[in-house]
Amino acid sequence: MTENVYHNELLKCNRCGACKALCPTYLTTLNETMGARGRVAMLGELEEKRLAPTENLAEKIFSCMLCGACKNLCPTGINIPEIIYQGRARLKKSFTKGLLLRKTLKYSISRTDTVFSILRGMHRLFYQPLYYRGILPYIPEVTSAPFKSSFQVYKKFKKLSRIAIFAGCSVNYFYPDLGKSLSNILLSKGFEVVVFRGELCCGAPLRSAGLEEEALYLAQRNIEHFSKVRAEALISMCPTCTMFIREHYPDIAGNTISNLMDVNEFFIKYDIAKNLEIAPRVVTYHDPCHLRHGLGITNEPRQILKGIKGINYVEMQHADECCGFAGFFSLYFKDISRHIGNKKIHNIAATAADTVVTSCPGCMMQIENLKREANKKINVKHIVEVVDEAMRTSVE
Ligand code: SF4
Ligand code: SF4
Repeated sequence: MTENVYHNELLKCNRCGACKALCPTYLTTLNETMGARGRVAMLGELEEKRLAPTENLAEKIFSCMLCGACKNLCPTGINIPEIIYQGRARLKKSFTKGLLLRKTLKYSISRTDTVFSILRGMHRLFYQPLYYRGILPYIPEVTSAPFKSSFQVYKKFKKLSRIAIFAGCSVNYFYPDLGKSLSNILLSKGFEVVVFRGELCCGAPLRSAGLEEEALYLAQRNIEHFSKVRAEALISMCPTCTMFIREHYPDIAGNTISNLMDVNEFFIKYDIAKNLEIAPRVVTYHDPCHLRHGLGITNEPRQILKGIKGINYVEMQHADECCGFAGFFSLYFKDISRHIGNKKIHNIAATAADTVVTSCPGCMMQIENLKREANKKINVKHIVEVVDEAMRTSVE
């Protein structure tokens, strides 16, 4: 977005307030400066130099969860999340709390494996004391065997076609078993599966930290890398990666990875979950924000779950509301994150379901941590785990 377009977008705001109707940070705090309208208004004032780029202002702009709930609500057509990204790039130096994170993200660009192995090494020494002092919202469990290091090419003699997996950082470093589940599903359906070490972070965390140039670098490298990959589809299990590559790459890099699909889209298009059966259970579904608001994928996961024999599907109240994770937001705005997340735990528990399914590793992390704290006995599963288990059960 050029300086001129940004300026004109901000001028379009008539302060009607339609955008705050679903804004989770506004609805939690009832503070105008913590909501969509307030943020757009403050960035407009900053642009007109009637507000200074103070730490306080930066904090309000960085307190947005980038959930996208406000995206299609503006009657004048302002893309509010995009305005927030632009504002963050302008205000990042004023957000001093984020300095260490920005340095780490910059350092990690071409050394992601090293950074995650350092984070893993810090587990005992730092995380537990920080968690017990209430500084960390949860203790991250970084795997010693990233998914992309353990999986390469799985050849099939008579393959249907070739499918590549875009694991993303959350599957690679926190949930490698999701990658294994997806590989199992694809292999048993007759696809050849490919996983590349050359995949880099999609860039979403860097752009959300205001690091535009660094996010562009990662986008260009990923586009270049995957343009050489021969595969019918590239599947992602993280809606943030999918949304970022599909929606942001064209804007920031002028190109994208056109065969990238969310795993739910893929399962429906290729009829992967038909005729499956699983041990009886009551299941509810939580919509990840970037899947619902960013990609408009809401029916597909429900269709998959309802189609598996043995699943008694119950809809929870406000399934479309954020779980409160939002990546680094849960670190900087721990209390709001927890408040939003506890509402989600309450809504899940009210269904009496024994399993909550979602399609996002980040949502899994938040729901896992908060349900453990609330002492709720609910299984938290990614949809690929459910389909994988049902395929194994149906074969037996
Ligand atoms: S992206 Fe979400 S948190 Fe940010 S302003 Fe919009 S609705 Fe509010
Ligand atoms: S909905 Fe659009 S015009 Fe109305 S306050 Fe929000 S940004 Fe401004």
